[in-house]
Amino acid sequence: MGAGARGIGRLRAGVAGEVVVAGDAGYREAGRTLVAQGRPAVVVRCAGPADVAAALGYAEAHGLTVAVRSGGHHMAGFGTNDGGVAIDVRPMDEVAIRDDAVVRIGTGATWGQVAERLGESGLAISSGDTAGVGVGGLMAGGGIGWMVRKHGLAIDHVVAAEVVTVNGTVRRVDAATEPELFWGLRGAAGSLGVVTSYDLVAVRRPTVHFGTLLFPWTQAEQVLNGWAEYVVDAPDELSSSLQLPPTMMADRQAPIAVMVCIAGDESTRDKVLGPLRALGTVLTDTVAEIPYAQVFSNESMPADWTPRVRNGLFDQWSPERGETILDARLRLPAMAVEIRALGGAFGAMPADATAFAHRDTQFMVNSVLIGSTDLHGSQVASFDWLWEALAPERAYANFLSHPTAADLDRCYPESHRSRLAALKQEVDPGDVFHNSLTVPPAERVPPAA
Ligand SMILES: Cc1cc2nc3c(=O)[nH]c(=O)nc-3n(C[C@H](O)[C@H](O)[C@H](O)COP(=O)(O)OP(=O)(O)OC[C@H]3O[C@@H](n4cnc5c(N)ncnc54)[C@H](O)[C@@H]3O)c2cc1C
Repeated sequence: MGAGARGIGRLRAGVAGEVVVAGDAGYREAGRTLVAQGRPAVVVRCAGPADVAAALGYAEAHGLTVAVRSGGHHMAGFGTNDGGVAIDVRPMDEVAIRDDAVVRIGTGATWGQVAERLGESGLAISSGDTAGVGVGGLMAGGGIGWMVRKHGLAIDHVVAAEVVTVNGTVRRVDAATEPELFWGLRGAAGSLGVVTSYDLVAVRRPTVHFGTLLFPWTQAEQVLNGWAEYVVDAPDELSSSLQLPPTMMADRQAPIAVMVCIAGDESTRDKVLGPLRALGTVLTDTVAEIPYAQVFSNESMPADWTPRVRNGLFDQWSPERGETILDARLRLPAMAVEIRALGGAFGAMPADATAFAHRDTQFMVNSVLIGSTDLHGSQVASFDWLWEALAPERAYANFLSHPTAADLDRCYPESHRSRLAALKQEVDPGDVFHNSLTVPPAERVPPAA
């Protein structure tokens, strides 16, 4: 028996969860995320923090690189690797309501599971828009959900976290015990360790008024600019996005959609829907009161799709930006664009309160080139041209498929990056937790090969 096999045997014996290596049943699935098929040397499906510590110890002992996977939805495929250790937190998916408001959530849960479980008690947490997205990854970057203007980012609900840092220490972290790590985990967790659970304060919100207003594509400019003007000063109860579907899905005349989620009563609903319905000719209006858990969509994506995703954060709207997007859309039949309104409670948090920095953002423009790499073809050049024209100075780490060093700067401005680099130097000086969107330690040490 070789040293590697003996090591795997010891790892298997030492963890409560499952250890999967090449040749085992389920190895292929274990190394896959939504967009990437990896071939890790070992996948450890961790049943608890001790398993995470064991997986980190194994990686260190064998000089292997580490990937951390929760829901596997990051479009850069960060949750897997080739030849390294993939730490899969999915078995830690407990959602426990500890008292009336504080909820302990394992980072392996999906936000769809969380919403279902909390919905049974009339509770909710503003997280994302898609059921299959994982708690671990969404929280790592911030979490922009359907009640973001009323309740802020998902990380804004956090009161404590349990995290395993690189030496295998399990730390319970909150504002009093480890304020700096607590700060860093809220917006840059992927740089610092493996979070195994979060304690969050949920809100009482059994139902919301949710749905879509469709307008004709011929009114796109008027609806887009009118929507952008309205949402900046709209009541915080309104969270909204404007969606431009890919023209290849339904020809160029695909209507434009204004999606709304109103976390308020009927009078608030009527107050915000009036101006929104007046933006143009409403073709369809599906807004209805539904349980919050039902706002989550269930994405499904063909296995050969490799979406190209890029976003920018902007502190105000300009009609020129709208014109650029609408022009580009005609040249990019595979591109979907969503513009999310931020502000409200999201912006009420001071910029230095969390590692997520960009609190004065009013709009996130997010674009996705759908389909396979073959389909993208020459559209990639137009897609890149669009983003050169939009020239965002800031970005959101969770919506980037091909992140660059410039994107890291866009996600973490100098004030935050230097603070994170100092924190990283303390908790992960060897840069074990690294990918193109993690902040290197202040005194950079090369990562394991
Ligand atoms: C269809 C779809 C819809 C989306 N909708 C939204 C949305 O509405 N709002 C929004 O904000 N984002 C949204 N996202 C983006 C999403 O937040 C990111 O893709 C996020 O990384 C997914 O989390 P995950 O756990 O599924 O990903 P994974 O790929 O499992 O993880 C991504 C990375 O996060 C870090 N990470 C994961 N788990 C942990 C952990 N336990 N501890 C420390 N770090 C960890 C690691 O660096 C990891 O590589 C969406 C993505 C998709 C594909």
